[in-house]
This record gives sequence, C-alpha cells and structure tokens, in this order.
Amino acid sequence: MLRPVLFWMAQSPRMRAWVTRSAVGRRVSRRFVAGETLEEGLEVARRLRDRGFLVTLAHLGEWVHTQEDARQAAQAIHRLIQSVGEAQVPAYVSVKLSHLGIHLSQNLAESLLQDLLQAASEQDMMLRIDMEESALVDPTLELFWRFHKRGVANLGLVLQAYLYRTEGDLRRLLPARVPIRLVKGAYKEPKTVAYPKKRDVDANFDRLARLLLEAAQAPQAPRLSTNGRRPPMVAIASHDEDRIAYAQETARRLNLPRDAMEFQFLYGIRRDLQERIRREGYPVRIYVPYGSEWYPYFMRRLAERPANLFFFLRHLFRK
Ligand SMILES: Cc1cc2nc3c(=O)[nH]c(=O)nc-3n(C[C@H](O)[C@H](O)[C@H](O)COP(=O)(O)OP(=O)(O)OC[C@H]3O[C@@H](n4cnc5c(N)ncnc54)[C@H](O)[C@@H]3O)c2cc1C
Repeated sequence: MLRPVLFWMAQSPRMRAWVTRSAVGRRVSRRFVAGETLEEGLEVARRLRDRGFLVTLAHLGEWVHTQEDARQAAQAIHRLIQSVGEAQVPAYVSVKLSHLGIHLSQNLAESLLQDLLQAASEQDMMLRIDMEESALVDPTLELFWRFHKRGVANLGLVLQAYLYRTEGDLRRLLPARVPIRLVKGAYKEPKTVAYPKKRDVDANFDRLARLLLEAAQAPQAPRLSTNGRRPPMVAIASHDEDRIAYAQETARRLNLPRDAMEFQFLYGIRRDLQERIRREGYPVRIYVPYGSEWYPYFMRRLAERPANLFFFLRHLFRK
C-alpha cells in the first residue's frame, strides 16, 4: 500500500525539494547516508575499517540531466578513487551508469567509465556498476562485455534476484568469472519483468546464490585481495537472515574458503547483523553512500521498509 506512495514521492520534484531542504529530512537521511561530502564518506569508511569491516563507497547521484553533469560526476568519482588510495581504507567504489549519463550518450558513459577504471586500476581497486532500473540492464551488460573483451579485469557487476531474466544473465556471466554482488532489487518493476511476490524473489535469490557459490569453487575464481579493494567473485548483499544462512550453509557444504565470498550490507541497516556475521569470521563489506544527491537513495530505503516512513514522520512532527 505504502510502497507506491513512496515511489511516487521519489519521482516528485516538489517532494524532493521539500525533503532535501528540510532540516528533518537531512537529519533522518543520515541514518542511511554518511554525509554530503567526500570527507564525511571517508570518515565513516575509516571508522568501519577500524572495526574490521570492508567498505564500498558510492558518490550519490543518478539520471543526470546534461552531459556536463555526467562529466562533473565522473570528476567527483575520480577524486573519490584517489582519496581511497590515500586514506588506506579497504574499499572499492560503486558507480551508477545513469550518473555517468548512459541515458544521454552511450559513448560518453563508456569513455567516462574507461577513465575511472584506469584510475581504479592504478590503485589496485575494482569498480562495481550498481544495477538500476530494468531498462538499464541490457546497456549495463553490453558495456561490461565490451570492457571484458578489451581485457579490463577490475569491473564488477550487480544482479537482481527479482528479475526473471537474471538466471540467464548469470549463466552467461559465470565463465567470465566476474565479481558479482547478488541483491534482491530495489526498483519499482512491473510483473512482466520481475517476480511480484517476495517468496519467489527469495527462492530465486537462493538459487542464484547457489550457482554463484558453486562457480566460486574454481581455483581461478577471484578471491578477496589483501588490500580489500578487490572483492571475491561472490558478494551476498542482503539483510535477510534466511538468505544469509542459506549462503553460509551452501558455502560450508561446498567447502569454500572464507576469502571466496563476502557479505555486504547497506550503511545503517541491521548493524547488529553486520556485527554478528563479521564476528563469525566472514568478510563483511558495508556500502557507504555520501553526497548531496541523496534523495532517490533515501526514498528507496524508505520504500524497502515502510516502517522507516513512520520513523521519518515521527521526526517531522516532533520538530
Ligand atoms: C550492499 C548492497 C548493495 C546494493 N546494491 C543494489 C543495486 O545495485 N541495485 C539494486 O537494485 N539494489 C541494490 N541493493 C538493495 C537491494 O536490492 C534490496 O532492495 C535491499 O537490500 C533490501 O532487501 P534485503 O535483501 O535486505 O531483504 P528484505 O526482505 O527487503 O529485508 C530483510 C530484512 O532486512 C531489514 N531491512 C531491509 N531493508 C531495510 C531498510 N531499508 N531499512 C531498515 N531495515 C531494512 C528488515 O529487517 C527486513 O526484514 C543493495 C543492497 C545491499 C545490501
């Protein structure tokens, strides 16, 4: 019931202006977002590193309006890549192709990504393309394959278990041994492309996790690097305890070494679980977003758990 309202709010320029300008909106968003500046993002990354976590940093932004905006976004991400190197944090960087303007020009996004991959490679770091709306899945995979054919080895992907197509995509990607983050999927998708029922998404998540973990048994499958900037082939990214337990159990049955997979969580969500999985001895990476363009990201976090909306409203009316 509430999810459509939240997805509507996510698209509404008036809501966006209202929430991002209000002190309460900014304060509540801090539950999920490290801050508005690179330095705030790095500060959170350092704190997580000191507590034994790995990190992936994301400079927030998506669906830029002009090619100039895309170039500026790439410059900011470039600065982020260099700062991660200087700050000595075990982190790689996640990017969104709509932030690099793929919807405006494929060529521009490709050349911006090429430069970022080069900068990341100089820091011995992977870049991962976050997966966005289903309309961007084909362009994302096409771009990936073009880089792969040129021998680029530091580009990772995300696959979404809610899409019917994902098992086919995964089976085609497995021989390339590309690092994959498996997620359920965060966007509003029609039932022509995505499972509408949670239990079907969950069952698909487990099926895809098993395929990935089996493939990670191969000796050539990427392992977690010692600097933490190159992740292993499998990243299980979910706060769902049943999905995590299934992946752990499968990894145990397959006798997978601990550096063959990692668990990933979003900053600010289920901190108790993040800590527990880390204490169990698995590599745990936290996705740390920062930047002034936090509104769409924040709205997706509210839509995932409408109880968050009440948390937001409570703060709003307490003011
Ligand atoms: C590291 C990481 C990277 C991601 N990257 C992408 C991406 O590139 N593309 C994409 O489409 N999606 C991405 N996602 C989001 C993902 O698709 C899901 O929308 C999100 O993780 C919620 O699903 P879940 O697997 O946690 O399971 P759910 O069944 O939704 O949640 C399980 C439990 O986790 C807790 N929980 C989940 N979400 C929240 C929340 N927002 N607030 C508070 N508690 C919550 C609740 O306790 C809930 O019961 C990413 C997620 C993670 C962890």
